[in-house]
Amino acid sequence: MTSRRAGGYDYDLFVIGAGSAGVRAARLTAELGKRVAIAEESRVGGTCVLRGCVPKKLFVNAAHYAEAFGDAVGFGWRVEGVHFDWPTLTSNVAGDVSLLSSIYIRNLEKAGAEIIPSRAVLEDAHTVRLVAEHRTVTAEYILISVGGRPRRDLPIPGIEHVITSDEFFHLERLPKRVLIVGGSYIATEIASIFAGFGAETTIIHRGSEILRGFDNEVRHELCSALERRGITVMTNEELAGIAEAAGGGYIATLKSRATVAADQVLLAIGRHPNTAGLGLEKAGVTVDGTGSIKVDACSRTDAANIYAVGDVTGRLQFTPVAIREAAAFVQTVFEGRPTAVDYDNVPVAVFANPEVGSVGLSEEAARERHPSLDIYRSHFKPLPYRVAGRDERMLMKLVVDGETDRVLGCHFVGPNAAEMVQLVAIAVKMGATKADFDATTALHPTLAEEIVTMARPAERIRREAAE
Ligand code: NDP
Repeated sequence: MTSRRAGGYDYDLFVIGAGSAGVRAARLTAELGKRVAIAEESRVGGTCVLRGCVPKKLFVNAAHYAEAFGDAVGFGWRVEGVHFDWPTLTSNVAGDVSLLSSIYIRNLEKAGAEIIPSRAVLEDAHTVRLVAEHRTVTAEYILISVGGRPRRDLPIPGIEHVITSDEFFHLERLPKRVLIVGGSYIATEIASIFAGFGAETTIIHRGSEILRGFDNEVRHELCSALERRGITVMTNEELAGIAEAAGGGYIATLKSRATVAADQVLLAIGRHPNTAGLGLEKAGVTVDGTGSIKVDACSRTDAANIYAVGDVTGRLQFTPVAIREAAAFVQTVFEGRPTAVDYDNVPVAVFANPEVGSVGLSEEAARERHPSLDIYRSHFKPLPYRVAGRDERMLMKLVVDGETDRVLGCHFVGPNAAEMVQLVAIAVKMGATKADFDATTALHPTLAEEIVTMARPAERIRREAAE
């Protein structure tokens, strides 16, 4: 059955996928007085709210207490008898996630968007089939914001035993021994959480350094810090197979033939766009070699009235970026202002323990583009650490253009790195120079003051023109 058409199409905009990007686009468009529907086959909220950033950050907060209790002893506290209860954490986090999902629903409804709890697939460029409701609807514009899902496609025996970040938040009990495959955001964040709760944690990474794309010093610093916390990081290593162990748990065999015993094996090797079975071909929407939807700078697909935003397009996979793409889509299509998102100087954070925060160019990327660089570095022991008896340092690094004095990159590893990088990103985005940083008075005593007190470059890099 096809529904009746009012004014040519049933809706001005039909959004497929109610994650952060889809919800933002639906809400903004409905607030403009347009007829908007948004379909979601799972719960409203998407990866970030339901099984990503939000629950992850709460688990990170939970794990940090372990170190805080340890530090507290140096400050005179007695903390005997402290006990951690995994089911309390998982159930309280699930409650908070449900609350956020209901807030998303309320905001959509308030804006006047219709929420359709169904899988939606394309029949043609203007027609969407609602699978759960056995009907089709039509729309002038369609926005695809279906996100992605964790990869599970390692061609190895026993792959069915792995879990991913999707299942992590719902484990019934805290495993004693964990093996994590991957060396990027999710692997280091989840490893830090498990290790914080006392699990014996191993990371295996196929490359020689974790965190590809980050500044090399940041990569070394985080890796050493993870190892100091008892995490075993095995580099240049790959998973070759998983077998069930006689006494429970699994035995993972690695490429090197080494074996690792674990109660849980978690794969964190990237994500796949959710494009399979969406009917893209019927609508003239094309994908690239990774299955990501091809879009132009304004997020338009190869079908003139169909747009795609967020992780399904394989651009920068971060919630705030997806939300910006959604807002830019609304400006482009419904406000008559073609808008492309600016992907330069997007601040990023890895919520491992310790945290990493970065904005702008790594030293390595800067070396490729700029003949002349000044590198400023501070590697210091945060004030409370001495009293806490903790032997660890914080890394701060500035990558500065030696010709223009402009700060090209700013990198932190240590406490509150994410909060710091969010704020300093404004200065970097505005094109601040090192002289601007120097002209800013320090706020004492803080960790962040180091960023305006680095007097002399640790290194001056000058490439000859002939090189
Ligand atoms: P990423 O895509 O960031 O990295 C994939 C990791 O898996 C890399 O270390 C990669 O190694 C490794 N890998 C890829 N393929 C294989 C393979 N076949 N065998 C073994 N290892 C492999 O993945 P994540 O899963 O960590 O994160 C997915 C996305 O989610 C990220 O791109 C990020 O944008 C987003 N995210 C952001 C967070 C944040 O902002 N804090 C938190 C979590 C996720 P190599 O380096 O050699 O390619």
